[in-house]
Amino acid sequence: MERIADDVWRIALMPRDAVNAYVIGDVLIDAGYLMHGKKVVRALGDHAIGAHALTHVHNDHTGGSKHVKEALGVPVWIGAGDAPYLRSGRAPVPPGTRFGSVLERTAGSPRIEPDRELREGDEVGPGFVVLETPGHSPGHVSYWREADRVLICGDVFFGMNVVTLAHSGLREPLKIATYDPPLNRRSERRLAELEPAVVLFGHGPPLRDPAALHAFCAGLPAD
Ligand SMILES: [Zn+2]
Repeated sequence: MERIADDVWRIALMPRDAVNAYVIGDVLIDAGYLMHGKKVVRALGDHAIGAHALTHVHNDHTGGSKHVKEALGVPVWIGAGDAPYLRSGRAPVPPGTRFGSVLERTAGSPRIEPDRELREGDEVGPGFVVLETPGHSPGHVSYWREADRVLICGDVFFGMNVVTLAHSGLREPLKIATYDPPLNRRSERRLAELEPAVVLFGHGPPLRDPAALHAFCAGLPAD
């Protein structure tokens, strides 16, 4: 585990920062792909975990969650809008997508009954609150600690190019994997307003530049 801030650590699950999980206090955030479940548990070592919270329901975040839940005996928390997808194991697919039912299954996660559905303002871990940041998935949430301006943004932004694996700065998440791109863009703008000191991505290295999200959003086309 790599220390990021007080009581905040990163677990890099793939080379080049391509997939990350985080620990805030005794809460594990995300768990990578199915193959990463054991790696996450190993990386935690003897660090005590009391709950496993998710940013959203995609299988590169929830794939390892079933193993984590069973190995550590901890409850699983997820944004209320993503809870039905975790329950069914089917990925959220935008209405009208071609081959949507195939995609629902192939991009789905191991089925897990959520123990808690998170909503705006819920307190999680050491001083973090839940921000509802929908768009990339219907119930995507971010975790924000105002005291030292640490933001775990999940996939609202990508911190790298996930196709080439280049560390080429901020990007919007892959459109093909985003439920509602205009809605996600509104969530991007909301997070940029926070001017976070540290941004922690599902994909990409930590970003320590409070002006970066603003500058990136200023370059986006208007909705
Ligand atoms: Zn995602």
